[in-house]
Amino acid sequence: MGIVVQKFGGSSVADAEKLLKVCKHIIKEYNEGNNVAVVVSAQGKTTDRLISEEKEITKKPNKREHDVLVSTGEQITIAKLAMTLQELGYKAISLAGWQIPIITTSEFGNAKIKYVNTKTILDLFEEKYIVIIAGFQGIDEKLNITTFGRGGSDTTAVAVAAALKADKCEIFTDVDGVFSSDPRIVEDVKKLEKVSYDEMLELSSMGAKVLHNRCVEIGKKYNLPIIVKSTFEEQSDGTVVTDSYMEDLTISGVTKDDHIARISVMGLENKIGRTYNVFKLLADNDINVDVIVQSFGENVNKNLSFSIKTSDLEDAVKILNDHINEIGAREIRYFDNLSKISIIGVGIANKTGVAADMFEALYENNINMHMISTSEIKISVLVDREDSNKAVNAIHKKFYDKLNK
Ligand code: ADP
Ligand code: ASP
Ligand code: MG
Repeated sequence: MGIVVQKFGGSSVADAEKLLKVCKHIIKEYNEGNNVAVVVSAQGKTTDRLISEEKEITKKPNKREHDVLVSTGEQITIAKLAMTLQELGYKAISLAGWQIPIITTSEFGNAKIKYVNTKTILDLFEEKYIVIIAGFQGIDEKLNITTFGRGGSDTTAVAVAAALKADKCEIFTDVDGVFSSDPRIVEDVKKLEKVSYDEMLELSSMGAKVLHNRCVEIGKKYNLPIIVKSTFEEQSDGTVVTDSYMEDLTISGVTKDDHIARISVMGLENKIGRTYNVFKLLADNDINVDVIVQSFGENVNKNLSFSIKTSDLEDAVKILNDHINEIGAREIRYFDNLSKISIIGVGIANKTGVAADMFEALYENNINMHMISTSEIKISVLVDREDSNKAVNAIHKKFYDKLNK
């Protein structure tokens, strides 16, 4: 007898019929004698709906109230799933984040988990309850409701599994595991039977939303394998995210992030400390900068371009314009039209020709690159957003055709 944590995403719990399917997976583990904790997301597009309703009221919602609002989606699901299990004759009980509690930092919308109180859950296991937990939410030390960022229910599941020292943590979703690229965009994707934490972390961070990147960090920290599998396919082994690397595959995946903007600080004085001032200003305002390019113009001044998330664009431009004289620049330009395409794989940096192949795929498809960045384990390029699906497909084809030869 062990402890099993299962998580079901929004599309898996979208309606009453799907909840019944979910129960099958839960009951199977329970009937085998396991203690089962189940983490669920909001049903279907509920979170999107809540956010668009919020936009009808305000463009700049109060961050605390935003979390109070968006956390409600998961509360609906836990009650409905507990009732469905009860209808089937099982002992089930629902818990919102604050009832456990899952204690977090106070960063509304992006709160980090400090601590999961396992006693509440373990006591309910003693009484043979199936424990249904609301994903994506916790409570800070001042009793404010907090949420973890879009896709954050995965992080709840892995954190709960780590805290309970679970034997198994399964993330059920609408695809049968982690693939070499998004199966909804690219044809002929390959399922990865295993993927390492480091690769998965990059895949998630670079846009493969199948797992929330923070859940991968927790999995790695606690050495907890994460199994990603389909709710709807009966025979699904899924993908195991674990410590070992895939053999023979240099490239584990191709991802895209369609929410990238670029800012150019034009005519920055060529003096020591100018670049630092720009990034310090952004960092002090919690704006994360990604790919950076600095170039020298014809005169002594330089131009500095960098990419950021589109959601930070408005704030970043305002802050830079407000301080334009202090930072010693002539003009701030911006473009909100970019996507970041990344290839991820262990040892990419040491493998010759990977970058050339990637750039060739883009060249052959007439796709312009705006910026490039590389690391030990990934290469990213920025392209026009209208080219993003074409770019993902072209790059995926280049690498997977090669592998299949
Ligand atoms: P859930 O609601 O279950 O949390 P998500 O929509 O968050 O599900 O994540 C699953 C989706 O992730 C899939 O439907 C798929 O379109 C997308 N996805 C993107 N990249 C990948 C990838 N490399 N492998 C698998 N799925 C991916
Ligand atoms: N409901 C939240 C979202 O849509 C959390 C999740 O589904 O993981 O982002
Ligand atoms: Mg998700």
